[in-house]
Amino acid sequence: MNILSVQFVKSCSSASQFPRYRYPEFAFFGRSNVGKSSLINMLMKKKNLVKTGSKPGVTKTVNFFLLNDSISIADLPGFGYAKVPLEIKKAFLPLIRKYIDNRDNLRLAFLLIDIRRIPDRFELEILSHLSKRRVPAAITLTKCDKLSRNQREQRIRLISRELEISRDALFMTSAKSGDGRKEMLRLIEEYAVPLNGPGD
Ligand code: GDP
Repeated sequence: MNILSVQFVKSCSSASQFPRYRYPEFAFFGRSNVGKSSLINMLMKKKNLVKTGSKPGVTKTVNFFLLNDSISIADLPGFGYAKVPLEIKKAFLPLIRKYIDNRDNLRLAFLLIDIRRIPDRFELEILSHLSKRRVPAAITLTKCDKLSRNQREQRIRLISRELEISRDALFMTSAKSGDGRKEMLRLIEEYAVPLNGPGD
């Protein structure tokens, strides 16, 4: 799939503001600092579509983008950073849950995990919520350029064991080198079949 156009749609701090369109949607989940903004920018080949390196603790929103006038991208708020004040944590975890519960057009979730970290409660909670809604998740390991091939293999073993999934279900990316871009776009294309059947 080629990226022909990318438009910012809106930034939403509550579920009532989510766009009502029915374009097939792809969501990006991950902890603060996991490299989510960098990865989305890399995917779209845009330098600053999503602001990177921003300090946590600021307003948390779900940001929507439209790709090639036909595919919706949702950038979910980062979570789990120790310095995020409790009141903000309380406000945006429900927003993430509401997002998963309410988006009937959600086709696939990319759950980003820093390859150097062990997934914990946050990732497991997101996965279990997605699975309740029968939304497939692509476990996306970020910042893979930071490790050697051997180190990567070790991390993949650990992470797949922790999440109880096959290691083939994990895929490796780097916003720095562009690794994983083709595979992610291929996955988006594959899952972006139109929602409305004939006669709808
Ligand atoms: P976000 O909070 O998840 O949106 O994370 P950012 O995209 O802002 O990235 C957090 C930090 O990690 C920044 O300093 C990025 O430059 C760095 N970073 C992000 N992706 C990569 C990557 O693939 N490789 C390397 N080496 N650094 C990365």
